[in-house]
Amino acid sequence: MGDTSQTIVVAGGSLAGHTVVTELERRGFAGRIVWVRGQEGTAPYSRPALSKELIQGKVTAETIRLPVQRPYGPRTRIMDGAVCARLDPHADRVLVTRASKEEWISFDALFVCTGTNARVPRAFAGLPGVHSLRTLADAERIKERLAVRPRTVVVGAGLVGSEMAASLRSCELPVELIVQGQLPMEAVFGAELGRFCLEQHHANGVTTRLGTTVTALSSAGPRGPVTLTYDDGRESTADMVVLGLGAVTSCDWLDGCGLDLSDGLGCDETLRTARPNILAAGDVANWRHPLFGHRMRVEHWSNASAQARHAVESWLAGQEDRRPPAFADVPYFWSDQYGLKYQMVGHARGHDEVHVEEAGAGGYPFVTYLRGGRIVAAAGVNAPRAVMRMKARIQAELAEAPSAGGSSAGDPSTGAPPAGETTSEEVYAR
Ligand SMILES: Cc1cc2nc3c(=O)[nH]c(=O)nc-3n(C[C@H](O)[C@H](O)[C@H](O)COP(=O)(O)OP(=O)(O)OC[C@H]3O[C@@H](n4cnc5c(N)ncnc54)[C@H](O)[C@@H]3O)c2cc1C
Repeated sequence: MGDTSQTIVVAGGSLAGHTVVTELERRGFAGRIVWVRGQEGTAPYSRPALSKELIQGKVTAETIRLPVQRPYGPRTRIMDGAVCARLDPHADRVLVTRASKEEWISFDALFVCTGTNARVPRAFAGLPGVHSLRTLADAERIKERLAVRPRTVVVGAGLVGSEMAASLRSCELPVELIVQGQLPMEAVFGAELGRFCLEQHHANGVTTRLGTTVTALSSAGPRGPVTLTYDDGRESTADMVVLGLGAVTSCDWLDGCGLDLSDGLGCDETLRTARPNILAAGDVANWRHPLFGHRMRVEHWSNASAQARHAVESWLAGQEDRRPPAFADVPYFWSDQYGLKYQMVGHARGHDEVHVEEAGAGGYPFVTYLRGGRIVAAAGVNAPRAVMRMKARIQAELAEAPSAGGSSAGDPSTGAPPAGETTSEEVYAR
């Protein structure tokens, strides 16, 4: 497949990049692959484990490495500690930098899998005692601090903030959770399941400040306390602050290349950008979902691998003069907190009706979200079968009437989401 003279550059060394490389090799790509893995300088690993098992001390950096089914082929060049610094789309080449060295690499195809970074307001960056959590190095820095049993304030109650609070409590450390809205995970789950999440935090000994924004942080030094100032003028101190303020896409290196960078890297339904030999997959990809009928960007683990495989298929189809297929997977994510598994399928934005019932062995809340009378999402706790049944149902129903899930969503000509619709990164920010 492909010819030996072709070069494919894969930018990004996490799940999406790893899956693109593995899939190209599995499908017998005969050319050269240059895999630029980014600044982290590590082999790909399970990022979801960072806020869960790694902080809890149940796994180590070695045991969370992504499995490599067979060694990468001899025509795959792995560039660790290297980043794509610039794209010249007119000459089909990328500038790759490593340490102080620069190299232009020409490509026949480029897969952009550069994901996201933690969102850290400039005023909070680099303060001693203040951490964010996106990389293995971030998690190891936090873990190291746990030896002194710090009083921790977690700022932000999206997925990462909520999981951090739960993991710190499992280490029996004192935790306060700052929630900008009234409920944790509310932006993604809505009020019904958000209330359940709040009850779980309280039942497990987390104290919460609801409806509160942190306006300033100051630090007395590496060991000294961090002072937090809130929007109501009050202050508190902590030994450690962990920020869970969402993520920003890693697209700076694409600035000025002429592609759509309005929220991540804009692609069509097939994950190809306006230049069909440049494709995107994973957290960075913003594509028009054919079933939901509007653009979205999904910051979930299973999406990154499914999109990576799909992007390879789209590129290959173009090479073989076949019509590239649309990427129509129904989004899925999970979150582990206090021994409970939360799972959600679909895309609940813009829903106008919610049904709550009980499902699974624990009789926990199971929520279905409807839009225009159709189920567009479902979420449950310890109810994997019910959630997965719902995934199949959403896929089937929306496939029957594509775009029904997004019929009132935004401008159909541009695929823009409706005004006020939040992106997935804002979901994590709350
Ligand atoms: C703490 C935490 C917990 C999570 N838990 C869950 C969960 O429970 N369930 C779930 O569904 N999802 C979870 N996620 C989200 C999930 O990890 C992401 O969706 C997934 O990692 C996306 O993979 P990706 O390859 O698209 O991007 P990323 O994982 O963001 O990787 C991007 C890669 O690109 C590299 N890079 C960046 N810029 C450049 C450049 N210019 N050149 C070259 N390389 C570059 C980076 O170094 C990195 O290796 C969690 C995320 C975090 C941070």
